Amino acid sequence: MSVGTATPFRFDNSFARELPSLYVDWQPAAVPGDDVLVLNLDLAAELGVDGEWLAGAEGRAVLAGNAVPEGATPIAMAYAGHQFGGYSPRLGDGRALLLGEVVDVDGRRRDVHLKGSGRTPFARGGDGKAAVGPMLREFLIGEAMHALGVPTTRGLAVVATGERIVREGMLPGAVLTRVAASHIRVGTFEYAARLGDDDLVHRLADHAIARHHPAAAGAERPYLAFLESVVEAQASLVARWMLIGFIHGVMNTDNMTISGETIDYGPCAFLDRYDPSTVYSSIDHAGRYAFGNQPQIALWNLTRLAETLLGLIDPDVDTAVAAATEVLNTFPDRFRAHWLHGMRAKLGLDSADEGDQALFDDLLAAMQRERLDHTGFFRDAAASLRAGGAPLPPALDEWATRWLARLDAEGRDRTVVADGMDLVNPRFIPRNHVVEEALAASTAGDMGPFRELLEVVTHPFDERPGAERYAAPAPDAFARTFQTFCGT
Ligand code: AMP
Ligand code: MG
Repeated sequence: MSVGTATPFRFDNSFARELPSLYVDWQPAAVPGDDVLVLNLDLAAELGVDGEWLAGAEGRAVLAGNAVPEGATPIAMAYAGHQFGGYSPRLGDGRALLLGEVVDVDGRRRDVHLKGSGRTPFARGGDGKAAVGPMLREFLIGEAMHALGVPTTRGLAVVATGERIVREGMLPGAVLTRVAASHIRVGTFEYAARLGDDDLVHRLADHAIARHHPAAAGAERPYLAFLESVVEAQASLVARWMLIGFIHGVMNTDNMTISGETIDYGPCAFLDRYDPSTVYSSIDHAGRYAFGNQPQIALWNLTRLAETLLGLIDPDVDTAVAAATEVLNTFPDRFRAHWLHGMRAKLGLDSADEGDQALFDDLLAAMQRERLDHTGFFRDAAASLRAGGAPLPPALDEWATRWLARLDAEGRDRTVVADGMDLVNPRFIPRNHVVEEALAASTAGDMGPFRELLEVVTHPFDERPGAERYAAPAPDAFARTFQTFCGT
């Protein structure tokens, strides 16, 4: 059973203190092992936690769920969610626990959370467990996203529990320790709004404002300003996804944070050949969460959030709906502004031009026609600039002429422009086939390929001689059949 253990985590658990109707107290399940597969020492340092302590017996017991550190108040958070468009009134942490919150060395409040720590009252039919492969996958992709400059939850550690769990066959079990700005989701608001206690949504909103969008508190209409802040955070986030070819894969409202961090790396994957209809998730038969749909799905989810806030926005329903709709309607322009800004940087353009949208749309259309690798193209474009405008694929000649004319009009040195492009266009993303290889090796007990891949994707912009294989797109035969899975 879990026991209290002295700890360098300095907990201060505001969610547990302020919102008792949104969780149940719960304890992690004891497990036979606590073999640390990966430990994020940089993140530990940010949290003010000694890495040596974490790697030692006491730390490992905490990371495995075998000991609850002093000051932690482990809770399973309640939330609802729209899954593939249908409403589930009670999801919640079925196999996860929030241990507590730590104010980090920069003064930021961060959740420390265990995933795979056993069944909770929200587990429904699930076993409460997680497998080594998917937890390492979440760790790896989260760290890659962080290195790419995308707001995200992060992995502090993955430990193998020594259990075998039942999936398709038996797999080694694991617990991921996840750090997040918070685990408050759109689905948390949906859950609170349907409990029939108006004051609860009010308190949840105040909590989320204080924590994530404090400027809204001083606005004339704080809850409308809060909605606007979340709309802005998500517009910015999803634009970043689109700029790097990231497909979340399961953008249910329970997997969308209020903070604007990417959360829940289940069936996610990166595009290789550019095609907005790309879907990898085995259960997304209708392509609801296809790459190109992500902005409109974000807005759909934000609309579900807005519905929960109407009573706080204005006592008159029609007035509230009109005000919320006006804010939601700003999403497309906000998204486009972030995306245009990012595309200019990717193409080395310093200034905005009326024709930019068409220039970028035409590029993407050509990339799709030519089946170009989304990540590789932008590095190739920089290389072509350095080589004095050496041609890109011939089918892009006309487009390249327009692009070079834009660059020449700006008049900067082409080498300088190319160097700037390489600072925003990754050479290395977690390529699906390489990730699968590394996870298969990990599951079989060899962490070598995972460590090497982690090193590469956490330095995504650096040239790395000898690492060419990590930059190459998947062989077509792999890409045609690759699928990702949820809830693993
Ligand atoms: P996800 O697809 O991981 O976002 O999870 C959706 C819901 O299913 C959440 O409420 C999870 O807590 C729950 N869930 C997923 N896997 C399990 C499991 N193995 N045991 C219990 N609950 C689970
Ligand atoms: Mg989830």
